[in-house]
Amino acid sequence: MSTVQIKDKQFETFIPEEKILKQIKVVADKINHDMAGENPLLIAVLNGSFVFAADLMREITIPCEITFVKLASYQGTTSTGEIKEIIGLNEDITGRTVIIVEDIVDTGATMKRMIDTLGTRHPESVHICTLLLKPDKLRVPLDIEYVVFSIPNDFILGYGLDYDQQGRNLRSIYKIVDYQPNIINTMRNIVIFGAPGSGKGTQSDKLIEKYGFGHISTGDVLRSEMKRGTELGKTAKSYIDQGQLIPDELMVNILASVYDSFGKDHKGVIFDGFPRTIPQAEALKKMLADRGHQIAAMIELEVPENELMKRLIKRGIESGRSDDNAETIQKRLDVYHNQTAPLIDWYKNENLYHHINGFGELDRIFSDICDVIDKL
Ligand code: AMP
Repeated sequence: MSTVQIKDKQFETFIPEEKILKQIKVVADKINHDMAGENPLLIAVLNGSFVFAADLMREITIPCEITFVKLASYQGTTSTGEIKEIIGLNEDITGRTVIIVEDIVDTGATMKRMIDTLGTRHPESVHICTLLLKPDKLRVPLDIEYVVFSIPNDFILGYGLDYDQQGRNLRSIYKIVDYQPNIINTMRNIVIFGAPGSGKGTQSDKLIEKYGFGHISTGDVLRSEMKRGTELGKTAKSYIDQGQLIPDELMVNILASVYDSFGKDHKGVIFDGFPRTIPQAEALKKMLADRGHQIAAMIELEVPENELMKRLIKRGIESGRSDDNAETIQKRLDVYHNQTAPLIDWYKNENLYHHINGFGELDRIFSDICDVIDKL
């Protein structure tokens, strides 16, 4: 079984190409038998059925014709949900044997409307041939004579079917990898975001205690590598002491192994100090998607610049951190504005962004953060 990643989702082989082609031949043979001498007109519904229609038609050995239509959303509301109308059918179908060729029938509402519409144009008969049928979702009584496969109610793609327009070119049919919804619902991965000195570490400690989250502070990971004198630590030191960011590739490489150390079904991990660049955010999204996980929220702690400076200088005196001196702090703040702050818009785009006023009473800030997390 092979798996493919399409955008943020993972899919695994469901029906391999050979099996699809074999079963299409079985259905085509039935059409050859049932419609001999009738010169049926295949009406293929775009876009999803284009691959199926091509393979089906080449297995039909009796004389036949094909035309393509699209469905457009129908203006108006109905109890059966969204209804679509046919566009692009220019052929005269009076007296013709018509076969509607669809990639998938689920509720059947759209198919029912197609049959009713075609019926007003006086065909001899209208038949349905669908690659896939989801019997569990069928809500409208339909006589579907030609079904290649009946499938459960899974999210599928490939062989002409898409996810957000991608994946139509896959030769087999794939289904989404089980997302284990019970785990994902209780797992809240959170990016805690802000400039150096905004209180990410302090608030992370309180969140870990309250919610039992895991915690990844990339700054702490790097400092521990520096302390142990590892190769990574030596490389990191040269950047950290200059107030610069460690190259994305190095950071991304260490991320997955630290994340996996929390196991598969943790309550959530707080990402503190990561991502700091857009490529890091993209890598984080992909790393989580590969595991069927995701970010639940990005929480920005916003603090005025003069306050950040004050806090960092104080911390430098207390903790002895080599990068908490006036010159390096200024560089880190510049790096934050130029390379890290653009992530605010990136996460707004992902609909994950939450703003917190990070200036003021520690407990008020904590309670504002908890309000966001409790609603996730
Ligand atoms: P922090 O403890 O989060 O303030 O990080 C201290 C320093 O470690 C930063 O100024 C960077 O030099 C480096 N660092 C930490 N996290 C990252 C990251 N995600 N990407 C690049 N560099 C990082």
